[in-house]
Amino acid sequence: MFRAPVTAGELLQVVRGEVGATRASLGERTGMSRMAVEQRLSILVENGLVVADGLEQSTGGRPPAQFRFNSEGGVVVAVDIGISAVRVALADLAGDLLMDVSGSISIEDGPEVVLGLVEKYADELIAKRPRPVELWGMGIGVPGPVEFEQGRVVAPPFMPGWDRYPIRDWATQRFGCPTVVDKDANIMALGEFHSSWSHLRHILFVKAGTGVGCGIITDGRIYRGANGAAGDLGHIEIADGDEIADGEAPTCRCGNVGCVEAMAGGWALVRDLRNKGIEVTTAGDVARMARAGDPGVLAAIRKAGRILGHALADAVNFFNPSVLVIGGAIGQAHGELLAGVREVVYRRSLTLATSDLQIVPSALAERAGVVGAAHLIGEQVMEAGAVDARLAASTKM
Ligand SMILES: [Zn+2]
Repeated sequence: MFRAPVTAGELLQVVRGEVGATRASLGERTGMSRMAVEQRLSILVENGLVVADGLEQSTGGRPPAQFRFNSEGGVVVAVDIGISAVRVALADLAGDLLMDVSGSISIEDGPEVVLGLVEKYADELIAKRPRPVELWGMGIGVPGPVEFEQGRVVAPPFMPGWDRYPIRDWATQRFGCPTVVDKDANIMALGEFHSSWSHLRHILFVKAGTGVGCGIITDGRIYRGANGAAGDLGHIEIADGDEIADGEAPTCRCGNVGCVEAMAGGWALVRDLRNKGIEVTTAGDVARMARAGDPGVLAAIRKAGRILGHALADAVNFFNPSVLVIGGAIGQAHGELLAGVREVVYRRSLTLATSDLQIVPSALAERAGVVGAAHLIGEQVMEAGAVDARLAASTKM
């Protein structure tokens, strides 16, 4: 039960959670008087957040109007910045994508160049939005560790020039809206959760691309840990014997020896394949050759899957997820990576932890990031307090 008085933002949460809400049902749910319900409802209707929707079956007299949340009352921009590509999408307030655009980048060109392209794409999409509604927020994923409270990346291994760059402040200045910045594997995990797995509570998403990242969803929310560093699967040390010979462990980009990523990351696959005389330069090249069925590349990916499987077997024992989703450029290129992961995880994890465990490919593939980013910012701007603050600001204008 709500304490009275209930704000318009709080009433909106009740409307969102109820099918066929009427003035009477909202009064019952909130304990508010009919007049108070009417006053809050009219604010929400005037601001396009709630619409009257159909009529309730009635035993006589005038049927009462039903109300529902209007997800078309605003838009959010969702951005997924990768090592070599960027995707920008426009979504409604429920996180459903309306349109998206993508292009090639090199993350090493630095924040000014890459964010300049993000700005151009976002401006184009906002100009094309189906209705003249306001931009409510922006969600941005980046391929490096993120200090979540500050909205910036910290010591990212693949992102020269980005260390502590204030990405969130940049977006707030350019677009004048609330912005949230997170690491790419987190938003991808959230995207997969909302599109396929919201009936379950605990999922792990693995991004097997140039690097190896992992996003953790627990009780339907991203788990970030104390500093935002949770889920850094790529730099777990693989023991001798875990698919590698004594003395074989290579040095990682992070400076340590024997990291998962130094053997199973896209950049490590490029290194190993080039040493065997196979002409590849990027993780994208590896993915293309895997799709073409090159046996040498497929064998290397299978081995990478088994190495990843050793780290994931520990993660499964530790976290006991219902689903392991495998995505990223290498992960979604071919089933070999998934097969290698399955082979080791089902063998090495505890029976209880794997009894209901599903290991599946990403359903959203290259759109997982923008779908997740849209949900992440959508959840934030639709919180009761955020909605009330926005309504208060709009009435002052
Ligand atoms: Zn490392």
